[in-house]
Amino acid sequence: MLDNLKESCGVFGVYAPGEDVSRITFFGIFALQHRGQESAGIATADGGKLNLHTRMGLVSQVFEEDDLERLKGHIAIGHTRYSTTGSSRIINAQPILVKGPWGPMALAHNGNIVNAMELRADLERQGAEFQTTTDSEAIAWMIAFAPGKTWQERLRYAMARIKGAYSLTILTPDTLIGVRDPLGVRPLCFGRLNGGWVIASETCALEHLGAQVERDVRPGEVLIIDSQGLQTFNGATSERRAGCVFELIYFARPDSRIDGNLVYQSRETMGARLAIEHPVEADIVTGIPDSAVAAGLGYARQANIPYSQVLTKNRYVGRTFIQPDQRLRDLGVRLKFNTLPEIIKGKRVVLVDDSIVRGTTTPHIVSILRKAGAAEVHMRVCAPPIRWSCHFGVDMATRSELIAAQKSVEEIRVKIGADSLGYLSVDGLAASVGGDDKTTFCNACFTGRYPIPVQLELDKFALETV
Ligand code: AMP
Repeated sequence: MLDNLKESCGVFGVYAPGEDVSRITFFGIFALQHRGQESAGIATADGGKLNLHTRMGLVSQVFEEDDLERLKGHIAIGHTRYSTTGSSRIINAQPILVKGPWGPMALAHNGNIVNAMELRADLERQGAEFQTTTDSEAIAWMIAFAPGKTWQERLRYAMARIKGAYSLTILTPDTLIGVRDPLGVRPLCFGRLNGGWVIASETCALEHLGAQVERDVRPGEVLIIDSQGLQTFNGATSERRAGCVFELIYFARPDSRIDGNLVYQSRETMGARLAIEHPVEADIVTGIPDSAVAAGLGYARQANIPYSQVLTKNRYVGRTFIQPDQRLRDLGVRLKFNTLPEIIKGKRVVLVDDSIVRGTTTPHIVSILRKAGAAEVHMRVCAPPIRWSCHFGVDMATRSELIAAQKSVEEIRVKIGADSLGYLSVDGLAASVGGDDKTTFCNACFTGRYPIPVQLELDKFALETV
């Protein structure tokens, strides 16, 4: 895994009178750190006013004890962000604060919507004063300006107009709101904590807090939590679902459950299917840590070849330390992975990874294994060839940068220097995650079949992805 590509964001929310909600949120977004390492923020409400603290950096760097003390109240939301290189600015950190006719509101967004430009033009005419170029701000103003007497009416109005991927936590002076878009692209779940409620991108965040996981927020569902308790309703409907299959392949933590899939098990099954689709004579199987370890184990078990963890990752080499220029990016792989020549020497190795995107990481890892004496290196990949860019929240690079949009599988094999290369098929992937791509998942990055129409040139004018 390399730092030139970006992860999705993490969102969190808690409603818990009498509890230290800023600290709960700190630990919640700390558990979602893998979803975004560029900036972090928390907003709290005490029934009257909103407090906000955002800063660039990792969650543990962003908040001092004093900051958490200042963030008073009984409701809080939090966000961890990872964005495109050009937008690595504090102004784009979330939660975002806006003020509409119904009062102030803070919002945290994970996803990417496809009609932000249109919405923005309309909202500016209505008087919204945009501070950033993010699509998240367009969502915030859309909700803040939505007509209606209740949050239910306003959210239905806004959700009918916002198109794309949005898992949201929203804070008003006295209410916590959770929203998942009708396609269900990004994950969102909720649970109970000490008589209160928590909402998070992934179940791992709830479990670290000792919360009792209730269930996933359903596609199109809205949760409203206030002094009356929890109320849920359907804010918008869609004929299909489009859960991002890349969450299961790479993004989410293996211990999270998304829409009924334990991520670890999905990855193990992908690995086992890879072994059926692309068998090879070999001595050891290894998965590239951390995201491909479960898939490597699945491959090894199915193929009946021993698994050896011959790559070790330095977990502390984060984006913070590596600037996006090619020389440092190359060094990044060296700094990130080390290997075990004593175990590898003379062996035929099956190397399992979750994905090849630009094709920067793989040649380096193949070469590290060869230098350590591997007799053969057979690359196996859980994600089918990635040929289309994502418009729903994964900053996957533009089409021109995607190696599989430019080269055939054989050309990629030559470029990465492997003895053989096998990708999981689109059908094999769908079967691994228990769904069919037409009704359950979004797999547009492999097929170009987007769940809703997108402007393919959006890349050029992109609003920033979160
Ligand atoms: P690349 O070097 O461009 O082919 O990137 C592939 C590697 O990056 C794989 O090892 C993945 O684990 C990791 N990866 C895949 N997608 C992303 C993403 N959107 N952000 C960060 N890393 C990613």
